[in-house]
Amino acid sequence: MMEHYHFDTLAIHAGQEPDPTTGAIMTPIYQTSTYVQSAPAEHKGYEYSRTDNPTRAALENLVAAIEGGRYGLAFASGMAAIDTLLRRFNPGDHILVGNDVYGGTYRLFERVYARYGLRFSWVDLADLDAVRAAFTPQTRLLWLETPTNPLMSIADITALAELAPEGVLVGVDNTFASPALQQPLQLGAHIVMHSSTKYLGGHSDVVGGALAMNDESLYHDLKFLQNAVGAVPAPMDCFLTLRGIKTLHVRMERHSANARLIAEFLADHPAVKTVLYPGLESHPGHEVAKRQMRGFGGMISIILDGPDAARRVVSRTKLFALAESLGGVESLIEHPYSMTHASTAASPIAVPPALVRLSVGIEHVDDLIEDLRQALA
Ligand SMILES: *Cc1c(COP(=O)(O)O)cnc(C)c1O
Repeated sequence: MMEHYHFDTLAIHAGQEPDPTTGAIMTPIYQTSTYVQSAPAEHKGYEYSRTDNPTRAALENLVAAIEGGRYGLAFASGMAAIDTLLRRFNPGDHILVGNDVYGGTYRLFERVYARYGLRFSWVDLADLDAVRAAFTPQTRLLWLETPTNPLMSIADITALAELAPEGVLVGVDNTFASPALQQPLQLGAHIVMHSSTKYLGGHSDVVGGALAMNDESLYHDLKFLQNAVGAVPAPMDCFLTLRGIKTLHVRMERHSANARLIAEFLADHPAVKTVLYPGLESHPGHEVAKRQMRGFGGMISIILDGPDAARRVVSRTKLFALAESLGGVESLIEHPYSMTHASTAASPIAVPPALVRLSVGIEHVDDLIEDLRQALA
């Protein structure tokens, strides 16, 4: 096992061995659906690729290692990962959710799973008394993002894990921070989820999801569901994600450094009313973020004068591409109200129409600042 290595070493090596037959240093893309057996039920550990695939196994072990967990599972998308987790619960079970989450998470919870009898409450996770009061005897899961998408709020993972009653799983969507900056399992969470489409993949060329955990029985339940439900990623997608993770720590350093300078530029700009970036001392979650993160990441949200100003700015940038998604090496800009979070419109967790979200890439920061300067002018 490799646990004693530093994060940067794990990101490059964990879960991966040179191919035993050829010595290929990169894990091959095992583009196969099935595996030849020597006698019925006698095989080399692989029977059918929904159940297990060697390229996927390497990715699952790598994700576990970089989250500091014992077990990892990979899925066809971030939503597939959350969906598979939710299938562990039963009608009548209650799930407590932070009141700022990815729009697709809100949609899956309230528009899909509510129909199957799961119940959701939405709570401000910065208000620990409100969180404490929101647990019911039926609560099975506390689900949170930190930093949140898109309002960049910070939740105190350690404090929330401590106040969650016995028997309530604490799950963290760690997509925005990535394990290079934040490892929720080390802070007391039971399960970590990723949209590996974002920073883990890092190159905007693959859609994927992952879960990581330490508890063996939780892992067995979820492994059963992964196979039973079947929302697994293709070998090629696992390969791309494996390759992406090798540079995660280097990318996150640069994303964070660029984002800090851009946040400072935006904070001084007269057209920007509010900058939401946990790396700024003015951010209400700054102290908690400093404690639980190794860097503040590449995501920034800003509030402009109104929805028209927001739409105008996102249409005027040249280097920041107007697109959904985040976490790639290239910078993106978007208008959550009409794009990624349109599904939350008129809901209790609707996002401000004047909000603009930036995914700061790893281009030269001066070029990025010039682009924003001309767009805001
Ligand atoms: C994108 C995203 C998801 C959904 O992941 P997909 O890979 O798009 O299915 C979930 N949570 C957060 C925070 C995200 O940004």
